[in-house]
Amino acid sequence: MKAQDIKALLDEPACDHNTKEKSGCARPKPGAAAGGCAFDGAQIALLPVADVAHIVHGPIACAGNSWDNRGTRSSGPDLFRLGLTTDLTEQDVIMGRSEKRLLHSIRQAVESFNPPAIFVYNTCVPALIGDDVEAVCKVAQERWGVPVVFVDAAGFYGSKNLGNRIAGESMVKQVVGTREPDPPPEAAQRPGITVHDINLIGEYNIAGEFWHVLPLLDELGLRVLCTLSGDARYHQVQTMHRAEANMMVCSKAMINVARKLQEAYGTPWFEGSFYGINDMSHALRAFARLLDDADLTQRTEDLIHREEARIRAELAPWRERLAGKRVLLYTGGVKSWSVVSALQDLGMEVVATGTRKSTEEDKARIRELMGEDARMIEDGNPKALLGIFEECRADVLIAGGRNMYTALKARIPFLDINQERESAYAGYQGMLELARQLALTLESPIWPRVREPAPWDNAGVPFETHSHTEAC
Ligand code: SF4
Repeated sequence: MKAQDIKALLDEPACDHNTKEKSGCARPKPGAAAGGCAFDGAQIALLPVADVAHIVHGPIACAGNSWDNRGTRSSGPDLFRLGLTTDLTEQDVIMGRSEKRLLHSIRQAVESFNPPAIFVYNTCVPALIGDDVEAVCKVAQERWGVPVVFVDAAGFYGSKNLGNRIAGESMVKQVVGTREPDPPPEAAQRPGITVHDINLIGEYNIAGEFWHVLPLLDELGLRVLCTLSGDARYHQVQTMHRAEANMMVCSKAMINVARKLQEAYGTPWFEGSFYGINDMSHALRAFARLLDDADLTQRTEDLIHREEARIRAELAPWRERLAGKRVLLYTGGVKSWSVVSALQDLGMEVVATGTRKSTEEDKARIRELMGEDARMIEDGNPKALLGIFEECRADVLIAGGRNMYTALKARIPFLDINQERESAYAGYQGMLELARQLALTLESPIWPRVREPAPWDNAGVPFETHSHTEAC
């Protein structure tokens, strides 16, 4: 990828904070882990396209870096779960045979799996030695008649966030618009109801959570042409240009896709979240508003009224158990506010939230929800997190999987909120699961037991929290 292409991707006019610095969002500080390279970001964004053969062109360690580490689910094909790589070694580099290995790998994927398309991911080694990966992809496409999409996101190009954008850019430039959608199926046609086509960008169907939302969209007559990329198929990505409205789900990572579809096809878009009752209803209303259909607006209000009443009744016993509990939330980006809203729906108090990967817009939303004095955590190293936990007398830490051992070693309740989790929290129904998981961790009998002194150590020090301070 040329330097000016990377520069163009970092310059994202749809981001509010774009004027400050063209960095593609958060940069690692010296001594901190980078949290994923550009290749990692690109593959994690596209891997959920379930029927595609995803080939990583590089040493095998690159493929292991991001393969299947997002708990995304597919309702059909599972080719995406096969880790395919050219497995380059020093010998391949020295002998100049890495391009040949790539060509053979593509052939093997075509012959073994007959996929509708192949995505080839560039990594540092072939980019450094000057492989012409794009040319190999073209040759393979012509030879075997299968679309071969080149995702040029070598790790050293930049951050994971940049990789997300490169992935989106590859889809917009090479895939979107290459096929027309099928007509809506007979079963979707109902008298008096207009079927509208929509896309969801940045929805990854983690733990199958999008299946809580899809039936509601179906009921409203909103046909999802494509989710980029949870439970997606290649042919769906091809038809994204025909959507009447797009939603950026819970992440600005592929904001360039929404902006470019608007510029090229005039598709309006909005940013929203499916976490929490209020945000779920807000997302449905936003579709109705963008689609400007009076009948849809009325049916949306009716559905929201029915679903909110149902879920609030089902949540009532959980709210009794969770109300007033204090939460320390440490997660990145948009989740820093969308999960705050979901927790407040459960009557819980969020004492502080992480903002390390959040944009200025995200922070403004946090202040809206938590008040002007909201405590935002920029530095989430384990010691600092535990310090804030004690200082704010929190009851539970909600964070990504990498913080699990921090919590377990400190013997405090912990809930995994990030992409590796096993539970589906989206939609109205997801709130029940979130409440259930929170109650399970908070009320687990393990916490008082592990805080007791060990039987063999009478001098063991039980876990204690400090008194509540003004800072929280
Ligand atoms: S930084 Fe380069 S070598 Fe490391 S995982 Fe990313 S692409 Fe592979």
